[in-house]
Amino acid sequence: MTEKNFVTKIQIYSYNELNDEDKNLVDLAKEAIKGSYAPYSNFNVGAALLLNNGVTIKGANQENAAFAGTCGERSACYNAGANYPGVPIKKIAITSFTRGSFVEPPTAPCGVCRQALLEFETQANQPIEVILVGREKIYKLESIKSLLPLAFSEF
Ligand SMILES: [Zn+2]
Repeated sequence: MTEKNFVTKIQIYSYNELNDEDKNLVDLAKEAIKGSYAPYSNFNVGAALLLNNGVTIKGANQENAAFAGTCGERSACYNAGANYPGVPIKKIAITSFTRGSFVEPPTAPCGVCRQALLEFETQANQPIEVILVGREKIYKLESIKSLLPLAFSEF
Protein backbone atom coordinates (compact mmCIF):
# COMPACT_ATOMS: atom_id res chain seq x y z
CA MET A 1 0.00 0.00 0.00
CA THR A 2 1.14 3.50 -0.75
CA GLU A 3 -0.44 6.72 0.29
CA LYS A 4 -0.83 10.03 -1.49
CA ASN A 5 -1.72 13.26 0.26
CA PHE A 6 -3.03 16.48 -1.22
CA VAL A 7 -2.33 19.73 0.56
CA THR A 8 -4.38 22.86 0.00
CA LYS A 9 -2.59 25.95 1.20
CA ILE A 10 -4.84 28.83 2.26
CA GLN A 11 -3.41 32.22 3.14
CA ILE A 12 -5.69 34.32 5.32
CA TYR A 13 -5.61 38.09 4.93
CA SER A 14 -7.53 41.12 6.06
CA TYR A 15 -8.57 43.60 3.36
CA ASN A 16 -5.90 46.12 4.36
CA GLU A 17 -3.13 43.55 3.94
CA LEU A 18 -3.95 43.05 0.23
CA ASN A 19 -2.10 44.75 -2.61
CA ASP A 20 -3.99 47.28 -4.77
CA GLU A 21 -4.70 44.77 -7.54
CA ASP A 22 -6.34 42.35 -5.12
CA LYS A 23 -8.23 45.12 -3.31
CA ASN A 24 -9.67 46.26 -6.63
CA LEU A 25 -10.82 42.74 -7.48
CA VAL A 26 -12.38 42.29 -4.03
CA ASP A 27 -14.24 45.60 -4.47
CA LEU A 28 -15.50 44.48 -7.89
CA ALA A 29 -16.72 41.12 -6.53
CA LYS A 30 -18.69 42.95 -3.83
CA GLU A 31 -20.06 45.38 -6.42
CA ALA A 32 -21.06 42.41 -8.60
CA ILE A 33 -23.51 41.33 -5.88
CA LYS A 34 -25.81 44.09 -7.20
CA GLY A 35 -26.24 42.06 -10.39
CA SER A 36 -27.25 38.90 -8.54
CA TYR A 37 -30.78 37.60 -9.20
CA ALA A 38 -31.48 35.15 -6.40
CA PRO A 39 -35.15 35.40 -5.34
CA TYR A 40 -35.32 31.66 -4.56
CA SER A 41 -32.20 31.09 -2.46
CA ASN A 42 -31.72 34.66 -1.22
CA PHE A 43 -28.03 33.81 -1.44
CA ASN A 44 -26.29 36.42 -3.56
CA VAL A 45 -22.92 35.62 -5.09
CA GLY A 46 -20.59 38.06 -6.79
CA ALA A 47 -17.42 37.24 -8.66
CA ALA A 48 -14.79 39.28 -10.43
CA LEU A 49 -12.08 38.13 -12.81
CA LEU A 50 -8.82 39.75 -13.78
CA LEU A 51 -7.63 38.60 -17.19
CA ASN A 52 -4.03 38.59 -18.40
CA ASN A 53 -4.83 41.55 -20.68
CA GLY A 54 -5.87 43.66 -17.67
CA VAL A 55 -9.60 43.46 -18.36
CA THR A 56 -11.85 42.84 -15.36
CA ILE A 57 -15.16 41.01 -15.66
CA LYS A 58 -17.95 40.77 -13.09
CA GLY A 59 -20.35 37.88 -12.64
CA ALA A 60 -23.29 37.17 -10.35
CA ASN A 61 -25.59 34.23 -9.77
CA GLN A 62 -28.74 34.14 -11.89
CA GLU A 63 -31.62 31.96 -10.73
CA ASN A 64 -34.93 31.00 -12.30
CA ALA A 65 -38.10 29.11 -11.38
CA ALA A 66 -36.82 25.89 -12.99
CA PHE A 67 -33.86 25.89 -10.59
CA ALA A 68 -31.55 25.77 -13.59
CA GLY A 69 -29.66 28.95 -12.83
CA THR A 70 -25.97 29.73 -12.97
CA CYS A 71 -23.53 30.53 -10.18
CA GLY A 72 -21.68 33.83 -10.00
CA GLU A 73 -18.33 32.21 -10.78
CA ARG A 74 -19.55 30.56 -13.98
CA SER A 75 -21.45 33.70 -14.98
CA ALA A 76 -18.08 35.49 -14.90
CA CYS A 77 -15.86 32.88 -16.55
CA TYR A 78 -18.34 32.10 -19.34
CA ASN A 79 -18.51 35.83 -20.03
CA ALA A 80 -14.70 35.85 -20.28
CA GLY A 81 -14.69 32.83 -22.58
CA ALA A 82 -17.35 34.37 -24.83
CA ASN A 83 -15.86 37.87 -25.04
CA TYR A 84 -12.13 37.25 -24.63
CA PRO A 85 -11.51 33.77 -26.03
CA GLY A 86 -8.02 32.49 -25.34
CA VAL A 87 -7.13 35.22 -22.85
CA PRO A 88 -6.06 33.53 -19.60
CA ILE A 89 -7.76 34.32 -16.30
CA LYS A 90 -5.19 35.56 -13.80
CA LYS A 91 -7.34 35.80 -10.68
CA ILE A 92 -10.89 35.40 -9.45
CA ALA A 93 -12.43 37.02 -6.39
CA ILE A 94 -15.65 35.55 -5.02
CA THR A 95 -17.98 36.75 -2.29
CA SER A 96 -21.46 35.94 -1.07
CA PHE A 97 -24.12 37.89 0.76
CA THR A 98 -27.21 36.69 2.59
CA ARG A 99 -29.48 37.88 5.40
CA GLY A 100 -28.02 41.38 5.29
CA SER A 101 -24.37 40.47 5.56
CA PHE A 102 -21.37 39.11 3.68
CA VAL A 103 -20.85 35.46 4.60
CA GLU A 104 -18.11 34.49 7.03
CA PRO A 105 -16.10 32.33 6.69
CA PRO A 106 -15.71 33.05 2.96
CA THR A 107 -17.75 30.86 0.61
CA ALA A 108 -15.82 28.59 -1.76
CA PRO A 109 -17.00 27.70 -5.28
CA CYS A 110 -19.35 24.72 -5.72
CA GLY A 111 -18.08 21.57 -7.42
CA VAL A 112 -19.51 22.47 -10.82
CA CYS A 113 -17.78 25.86 -10.77
CA ARG A 114 -14.51 24.27 -9.69
CA GLN A 115 -14.72 21.95 -12.69
CA ALA A 116 -15.62 24.81 -15.05
CA LEU A 117 -12.84 27.07 -13.77
CA LEU A 118 -10.33 24.20 -13.90
CA GLU A 119 -11.02 23.90 -17.62
CA PHE A 120 -10.01 27.56 -18.11
CA GLU A 121 -6.94 27.04 -15.93
CA THR A 122 -5.90 23.89 -17.81
CA GLN A 123 -6.48 25.40 -21.27
CA ALA A 124 -4.38 28.47 -20.42
CA ASN A 125 -1.72 26.39 -18.66
CA GLN A 126 -1.61 29.09 -16.01
CA PRO A 127 -2.90 28.92 -12.42
CA ILE A 128 -5.92 31.06 -11.55
CA GLU A 129 -5.37 32.65 -8.17
CA VAL A 130 -8.48 32.38 -6.02
CA ILE A 131 -9.53 35.10 -3.58
CA LEU A 132 -12.44 34.13 -1.34
CA VAL A 133 -13.94 37.17 0.35
CA GLY A 134 -15.79 37.00 3.65
CA ARG A 135 -17.11 39.72 5.96
CA GLU A 136 -13.69 40.12 7.60
CA LYS A 137 -11.41 37.36 6.40
CA ILE A 138 -10.03 36.88 2.90
CA TYR A 139 -8.71 33.48 1.86
CA LYS A 140 -6.18 33.26 -0.95
CA LEU A 141 -5.43 30.01 -2.79
CA GLU A 142 -2.83 29.55 -5.47
CA SER A 143 -4.95 27.76 -8.06
CA ILE A 144 -8.28 26.15 -8.94
CA LYS A 145 -6.52 22.79 -9.03
CA SER A 146 -5.71 23.21 -5.34
CA LEU A 147 -9.49 23.30 -4.77
CA LEU A 148 -10.14 20.23 -6.90
CA PRO A 149 -7.59 17.46 -6.43
CA LEU A 150 -8.20 14.34 -8.53
CA ALA A 151 -10.31 16.38 -10.88
CA PHE A 152 -12.30 14.68 -13.61
CA SER A 153 -10.54 14.87 -16.94
CA GLU A 154 -10.73 12.93 -20.15
CA PHE A 155 -7.14 13.81 -20.96
ZN1 LIG B 1 -21.02 27.19 -8.51
